[in-house]
Amino acid sequence: AKTRGRSRYEFFNVELRRQMQRRLRLEQDLRDAVRLGKLWTAYQPVVDLRTNRMVAVEGLLRWTHPVHGAVPPMEFIPLAEESDLINQLGSHVLRVTTAELAARRARGLDVDLKINLSTRQLDDPGLIPEVERTLRTTGLPANALCLEITESALMRDSALASEALTALREIGVRLAIDDFGTGYSSLAQLQRLTLDTLKIDRSFVLELGESADAEAIVTSIIAMAHAVHLTVVAEGVENETQLDLLRDLGCDQAQGYYLGKPLPANELWG
Ligand code: C2E
Ligand code: CA
Ligand code: CA
Ligand code: CA
Repeated sequence: AKTRGRSRYEFFNVELRRQMQRRLRLEQDLRDAVRLGKLWTAYQPVVDLRTNRMVAVEGLLRWTHPVHGAVPPMEFIPLAEESDLINQLGSHVLRVTTAELAARRARGLDVDLKINLSTRQLDDPGLIPEVERTLRTTGLPANALCLEITESALMRDSALASEALTALREIGVRLAIDDFGTGYSSLAQLQRLTLDTLKIDRSFVLELGESADAEAIVTSIIAMAHAVHLTVVAEGVENETQLDLLRDLGCDQAQGYYLGKPLPANELWG
């Protein structure tokens, strides 16, 4: 039994080391990818449920690894967030997507841009001047840019972050609370944050049409958001049942594979 115990310990040890090595290698590869400009952004349509028109796109970061292929953001964003890399990634996304959208808008496309911000970016004093500079150089109007921050990131008690949010509002940039329903924010907190948009987390949308509980939760989230004058977006809409229900429940906008998958700019718009 003793030897079995030890070999099991050694097995875990080897396994752990292998995992750590993979992470380290992936982090180095990600650094190279940033430096060599190998990251790109996909755009997913956000549709207005009254007009059925595409009113915005969400920019989503993509990394095609030379050996492993597509590495999902769920894997590389947390990796980047453990180091300074996330600020470089964030700057890259901001620069590339605002330029792309400004160019499309100059050619008559009336669509807003949504991008994701991580907490590390909110805590970076360089963020505000960077956003201002980017809007100035690209000519994208501040109110055409919406920054999405997850509920858990917004509910942190960070002085730097709340200063950044105030400054962003003063610039005129829109703010969204992302993945709503996964945290524990109160109506009072929602009101105090003075956001523009609330995004209902995909986990609730997924069960619409199958679970009365999910429908009740979505109904109350929409009522709560509308009470503090937020635009409500449902994410992860995958079928017509979900879409019809959301429209009936008074949801303002929707996003999901059923309406359009994230695509490279030239595939979405040609
Ligand atoms: P998110 O901000 O909640 O983005 C929505 C995610 O849901 C995207 O995953 C999108 O591809 C996926 N999605 C959209 N519609 C559907 C659907 O109908 N069904 C399903 N199953 N999924 C759908 P993605 O692109 O893998 O990104 C995952 C997360 O990574 C994002 O979640 C966001 O938190 C983070 N992320 C992506 N790009 C960036 C970025 O540039 N900066 C930061 N900080 N985070 C990013
Ligand atoms: Ca998002
Ligand atoms: Ca989300
Ligand atoms: Ca999410």
